[in-house]
Amino acid sequence: INELPYDRARTTMAPFEMCPACRSEYEDVLDRRFHAQPVACNDCGPQYTLYTPEGSLENLDAILLALTGILEGGGTAAIKGMGGYFLACDATNAIAVEKIRALKIRESKPFAVLFSNMDAVKKYCDPGLSEAEAIASWKRPIVLLASEKSLAPGVSMGFPTIGAMLPYMPFHYLLFEKTYLDALVLTSGNLSDEPIIIDDDQAIETFRPRCDAVLTYNRKIENRVDDSVTMVVNGTERLLRRSRGYVPTPIYLNSDVDGIIATGAELVNCFCVGKGQQAFMSQHIGDLKNLETYEFYTESMDRFIHLFRIEPRLMVSDMHPDYLSTAFAKQSGLEWYQVQHHHAHIVSCMAEHGLDELVLGVAFDGVGMGDDGAIWGGEFLISNPVSYQRFAHFDYVPMPGGDAATLNPWRMAVAYLYRIYGAGIQDLDLPFLKAVDPSHQEMVIRMIEKGINCPPASSVGRLFDAVSAMLGLCHESGFHAEAPMRLESCIERGDWVPYEVHIGRSVNVDRMVEQIVHDIQNRVPAGRMARRFHQTMVSVIENMACKARDMHGINKVVLSGGSFQNRYLSYHAEDRLKGHGFEVYTHRKVPCNDGGIALGQILIAAKKRASGEWGGGRSQ
Ligand code: FE
Repeated sequence: INELPYDRARTTMAPFEMCPACRSEYEDVLDRRFHAQPVACNDCGPQYTLYTPEGSLENLDAILLALTGILEGGGTAAIKGMGGYFLACDATNAIAVEKIRALKIRESKPFAVLFSNMDAVKKYCDPGLSEAEAIASWKRPIVLLASEKSLAPGVSMGFPTIGAMLPYMPFHYLLFEKTYLDALVLTSGNLSDEPIIIDDDQAIETFRPRCDAVLTYNRKIENRVDDSVTMVVNGTERLLRRSRGYVPTPIYLNSDVDGIIATGAELVNCFCVGKGQQAFMSQHIGDLKNLETYEFYTESMDRFIHLFRIEPRLMVSDMHPDYLSTAFAKQSGLEWYQVQHHHAHIVSCMAEHGLDELVLGVAFDGVGMGDDGAIWGGEFLISNPVSYQRFAHFDYVPMPGGDAATLNPWRMAVAYLYRIYGAGIQDLDLPFLKAVDPSHQEMVIRMIEKGINCPPASSVGRLFDAVSAMLGLCHESGFHAEAPMRLESCIERGDWVPYEVHIGRSVNVDRMVEQIVHDIQNRVPAGRMARRFHQTMVSVIENMACKARDMHGINKVVLSGGSFQNRYLSYHAEDRLKGHGFEVYTHRKVPCNDGGIALGQILIAAKKRASGEWGGGRSQ
């Protein structure tokens, strides 16, 4: 759709003149295709073309025959989808999967898999009832499912889950009708961090030399949109990436957000525009630091403003001065407001549930700029949608090298160990340190000693990184959040007790780190340590919530921030808090990661505006 109201003339179907047969159906009130805007048939609708090294094919039967032959033979294909190009191959063929991995430079994330039908899903995965419902919904998201039986090893990259989905385009059905294959890798067609390709010429130029086939069709993709990703925890669907099928369905709020533009965060960006009491969240945009992604961001923003006829009057952004989304708001020339990152996380969840009262917000994530200039990410905030008070937080620990620490979890492990053992950590005989160049270790220790480029961080995400590295699971991060994901996926079943932490005004984990070192030295299995660490995090949340209730009488707890993508943490924190009689609120409609933050930003701005507190100040 390029304009509203929704009429064929204002869609990408406009260039396709209906044939007499389709037109008569379109105009017949009694026909089920009456006024159906995308009506078309094989004669008058979009046409497919398949490019192979031998030439091009236009006949659909010939295309299906050639394409299934290529895929069955272990070849790779770029396939034009609804919101962009995708790369496909047989998900059971290790060599084919490796070809796709090589094609997507530096990409080491697990790949999504398109299954032919529910039987095929069940052949490889073990979906629960709500998961089966989620995967079969018309929105056709990628659903993270537990999987014992592996496809090719390069699909899941050692994780015990598969991102599974069912066909969502007529072409997918036609393809599976013609092949014995029942599981295809279907991953976004882009090179490393760039946005998914939507332009036909660019796709042909990029993929023709790299793939065995490129399948395209002559209908333009107006809106770039990735597949959505969800998981099911405690019987409810949790969005990890909100895109195709979910966007642009508005989120209804109890406040007037008209004319407000929330510019989101940086790494996992989504923005939000306000119309009346409706918040329109954008599709997943990605990492704004990439130039192509930033262009996608500004184009999508223009499109949303145009499509929903928004008159921008206020901008709201994060406080981080280096975020491109902050710079975007600053340059707009409109009145501009900045809100604290974790307050926005908590309020985004409050917005979903229409909460206006004081809550205890537990915001656990990687990094976000705090009011004191430090990096926050392990925060207990007593919040309402207008303001907050920092009730407690995890202790500050230096992040050696800033962003370099995010990419190298071993640096965070050294930072935590240094607090206890000083420069003597190299004598601890920890196996994970043997994998790191000693000169690099020396350098990081010197950085910490001298306080050079070591911003203080209270980040729980970085603590997960540190523990994952100490356990030898991930010392360098191949993709965003790999270290915490590896840590979660190795959790062993069993009845263990949490580690000890000191909970005062802040949370001090030194004792836990000592106990982990002791366990490592005693060759305790990583899965057991991972479980005890997760249990510890749950008990910190439990303790803090009880403390906040005793001191302030608050009985509502809101869980937000990217760390709650961790299924164990999410499930057990909710469960434990409910056991204590707390009312617990978690995300349903937007992701708990930074992709949901714009919803919090827009509501904070709206409440401030309504209360007359507006004045270009900050969110507290
Ligand atoms: Fe965040």
